Amino acid sequence: MTNRLVVIGGVAAGMSAAAKAKRTNRQLEVVVYEKGAYISYGACGMPYFIAGDIPDYRELIVRTPEQMARSGVQVHTHHEVTAIDASAQTVTVQDLHNGREIVTEYEKLVIATGARPAGSPLPGSDLKGVFGLRSLESGRAIQRFMQDQAPQRAMIVGGGYIGVEMAETFRRLGLDVTMIIRSGKVMRTTIDDDLRDVVHAELDRQGVLIVEDTPSAFEGENGRLSAVVTNKARYPCDIVLLGLGAQPNVEIARAAGVALGSTGAIATDESMCTNLPGIYAAGDCAEAYHLVTGRPAYIPLGSTANKQGRIAGENAAGGAATFGGVTGTMVVRCFDLAVAATGLNAAHARDAGYDIRETLIQAKDITHYFPGVADIHVKLIVDGDSSRLLGGQIAGQKGVAKRIDVLATALYNRMTIEDLRQLDLSYAPPYAPVWDPILVAANVAAR
Ligand code: FAD
Repeated sequence: MTNRLVVIGGVAAGMSAAAKAKRTNRQLEVVVYEKGAYISYGACGMPYFIAGDIPDYRELIVRTPEQMARSGVQVHTHHEVTAIDASAQTVTVQDLHNGREIVTEYEKLVIATGARPAGSPLPGSDLKGVFGLRSLESGRAIQRFMQDQAPQRAMIVGGGYIGVEMAETFRRLGLDVTMIIRSGKVMRTTIDDDLRDVVHAELDRQGVLIVEDTPSAFEGENGRLSAVVTNKARYPCDIVLLGLGAQPNVEIARAAGVALGSTGAIATDESMCTNLPGIYAAGDCAEAYHLVTGRPAYIPLGSTANKQGRIAGENAAGGAATFGGVTGTMVVRCFDLAVAATGLNAAHARDAGYDIRETLIQAKDITHYFPGVADIHVKLIVDGDSSRLLGGQIAGQKGVAKRIDVLATALYNRMTIEDLRQLDLSYAPPYAPVWDPILVAANVAAR
């Protein structure tokens, strides 16, 4: 058996795994197979690339295959792994340039196949103008379509955070934007209704229409999208962005006997090892241990993918690293608003069996007399029995990301509301009021 690590997938988790494995054991042969054209790029920057803030897509790329080769990692783009044989310790790889197949051995395997846009394709999904946003290729295709076809009306199907980011991008590019969402609620699984009111108000202020409806098909003329159709209405449009969230790419893993967890993503232990010895999984194809519930969760985020990939790579190279878990911390820009969440929202906390107290406060983000002062909304979810913080949500213009990180740290340390009230948070007029909104919320929650 060769001293050989094979990594499937070359973006956040896969490239973190490959690079860390090589650094951990220089003798290890590390080979990455990526079915797409690009590796190691910041998918998170794509809405801003499409908006024109980042003029060249190449700026999103962290490392190229050539750079990886110089550090001793072989990367094969346009190579799709079609099967894993766990007992023979081989993978079948198809070269997408010429269709040729090879079977190649591994001693250790990292599955980092990521995710794809959620939802089953509706009739008309192949029309020109219907896009999912996931790979760098898809981001470039949208950007080219915007330039070449100059669409006027955008429909965003679904209310996930990528849909929210793209609503801003399309508006900034001058399009009419409608979000068509079955529940009529953006970020439904992340934030609660009371904080969502603030987000919906911002979308409304920026001219984004939200309709509560369920698309049944896309209609087109001459192969080109012309409308989104539901059983109630027909919405004429020139571009559709599918924003229903992400679903894990687990098919080749499942076929090889890799166990999936209750979330449908690959189950791993804290070493990122799957049920099959020598096979690790990391990133958007895998579950993560949720630090608040103590159960597995599927919260696909780049922050987690990088960490999990690094740990999988280190362990595949002989290390003994562990992944502590996640609280699902995220922040999204929605025009002039930043919207952030960590831990459990009210519905998730109730589902997890907690008897919760909810506190939502509105405060000023910096000192009241300082130019640029604006409102900030902080929501805390607290366990009524133990007073332990279970989650937080924040919406405002400034200081949102730093404050959600305070709450994430509090969750990591299983802090109570009393602990939160005692935090020594920074104060200076341009940055924060003397009573930081986190402390205000904690004081109100403690009453
Ligand atoms: P992926 O990025 O999905 O990469 C998996 C790779 O595996 C793909 O390139 C795929 O082609 C390849 N692959 C799959 N199957 C095979 C196979 N059989 N053979 C070979 N190759 C295969 N996260 C945040 O934390 N913050 C953000 O602000 C944020 N913004 C985002 C904005 C957008 C528009 C998008 C799309 C995502 C955003 N994310 C954000 C999520 C983040 O990008 C993902 O969590 C991260 O990319 C996951 O990395 P990954 O390596 O696990 O999976």
